Amino acid sequence: MTDHGDEETSAPATPDGDADRIRWNWNRMCSLVLSALLAVVALVAVGTSPAAADPDGKYPTLSAHHHDDDDDYYDDYYDDDDAPPSERGPTGYSLVLPKGAIESSLTAPHHDYPAIDIAVAAGTPFYAVTSGTATRLYQAGGCGNGVTLRGDDGAKYTYCHATRISAVGRVANGQRLGLTGSTGDATGPHLHLQIAYPASTLRCPKALLVALSKGTAPPPVERLPTSGCSY
Ligand SMILES: [Zn+2]
Repeated sequence: MTDHGDEETSAPATPDGDADRIRWNWNRMCSLVLSALLAVVALVAVGTSPAAADPDGKYPTLSAHHHDDDDDYYDDYYDDDDAPPSERGPTGYSLVLPKGAIESSLTAPHHDYPAIDIAVAAGTPFYAVTSGTATRLYQAGGCGNGVTLRGDDGAKYTYCHATRISAVGRVANGQRLGLTGSTGDATGPHLHLQIAYPASTLRCPKALLVALSKGTAPPPVERLPTSGCSY
């Protein structure tokens, strides 16, 4: 009886003991998985909070970066080139024409100085490439009806040959500035765009426009070349 009793009390102990170990392991695994999940959530929160906290939706350090030559930030930033555009955060820049209007003529060199002439049907809307202050410009023998946009990035953008100017003063990134045409010194309807940074240093707009038409982060304006786009 005693042996049998021992058998009766010890026999079920083994499966119960296994079950306890399984439960313990299960609980431990659950807590490990939970800890890992919490760590991932914390990392994601840390990774995204600087962009979310950026009130203007611009490059976090673009304007500050104009004043030093430390390339590390951008090198690090552009290491993320494989990330889809939606995950890079807002760039603060918009395409200057409707996407379909801009893809055909970005390769032609400009006459005499760095700029770009984009052949486009008269009456096509054109937009502020970034936020800033727009001023109307008129030169009968040159720019025709134009707009000077002093961007918040420190660059000066000049648009020429418009039929209509629809926004002056403070403008938002991507806001419509007017309609294209062929006023001033133009042989046909096109948008002339030139970029000066700093002050009177003209830069080739192509790399900026190509990046924006692809939906990728554009190069900082101070990285745009100052030659190679004119004849
Ligand atoms: Zn031109």
